[in-house]
Amino acid sequence: MTREATLIACDGIGPEITAATLDVLGALGLKFDWDEQYGGMTAVEKAGTPLPNATLDSIRRTRLALKGPLTTPVGGGYRSVNVALRQEFDLYANVRPTKTIVPGGRYPHVDLVIIRENTEGMYVGLDHVFRVADDPKAVAQAMSVMTRDGCMRICRYAFEYAKKNGRKKVTIVHKANILKATSALFLESGRRVAKEYEGVIASDDKIVDNTAMQLVINPEQFDVIVTTNLFGDILSDEASGLVGGLGLAPGANIGATASIFEAVHGSAPDIAGKGIANPSAQMLAAGMLLDHIGEQGAATRLRQAIETAIVKDNIRTKDLGGSASTSDFARAVARRV
Ligand code: NAD
Repeated sequence: MTREATLIACDGIGPEITAATLDVLGALGLKFDWDEQYGGMTAVEKAGTPLPNATLDSIRRTRLALKGPLTTPVGGGYRSVNVALRQEFDLYANVRPTKTIVPGGRYPHVDLVIIRENTEGMYVGLDHVFRVADDPKAVAQAMSVMTRDGCMRICRYAFEYAKKNGRKKVTIVHKANILKATSALFLESGRRVAKEYEGVIASDDKIVDNTAMQLVINPEQFDVIVTTNLFGDILSDEASGLVGGLGLAPGANIGATASIFEAVHGSAPDIAGKGIANPSAQMLAAGMLLDHIGEQGAATRLRQAIETAIVKDNIRTKDLGGSASTSDFARAVARRV
């Protein structure tokens, strides 16, 4: 059966890693009817807006998208398209697995999943500057908004994810010692959900700064981490660094009506167009998409092929210490699937 899905290659290295991923999906023998749309700077150039209505309409119809990284102007310019997509489709759960693939690294047995609340907290967009006298930016203020429903929903998602995926423990990560309203609401919700899963999924909680340190000292102690938007954004990049960097970190944005799969990394403008980007993260994101649509067998073959290409065939891009190009690596994975 052919599955319709939206494809947004986006900016920077996006088109390179997306082409490599499509080659590998082709080798798996899966049939997708890709509706290609634009997003980010590419869309600004083509359609005059970073998030065209045609892109939104396509996701509304297909409810499934594979997306590349977007370039977002820093400290001004248009609002993040990623944040807009997450809010438009209520993609409340951001699932970011981190697993050791490359042998010989510092941590041989990392296998954890960070589940980040994706629509609330510090990223709701209430971020303002205020003029005082002659200085238009004399004061800057950001507001974090958390709801009980939002906290309960993401914590329930995390415990349910743990149960479905044979995981043993969920760690609730917070800063309730300082943020006594917002983060405390999250912790209270997490503990309440943990009670519902008592005897099925173990649970503990940790303050975010301690978690950041523990991730470096002993990441193998973690199984599933559930946390708020900003903390999850930072901790998931940190976690990817433990196992070889952003080139190996995939992510899923899950909502009730649509889901978008993408690499954790950005558009990597420093290496864009050079043909040296590691497409593994985007391929692993495609693997999460396959799991999501019930193609677990194909997803497992894809993950094994990526691992074999890196570990046994020793075909590695520059970020993993090799000299393979993006397309060399795609060919190696395609051979193995
Ligand atoms: P980045 O992730 O693009 O790059 C960080 C570093 O990692 C760079 O040195 C880059 O070369 C390297 N890197 C990233 N992906 C790689 C890959 N697949 N293979 C090899 N090396 C890789 O982060 P940044 O430089 O902070 O951000 C660049 C742009 O991306 C910004 O506009 C930012 O807003 C955007 N961004 C988008 C997303 C997204 O769309 N999901 C996520 C993060 C950042």
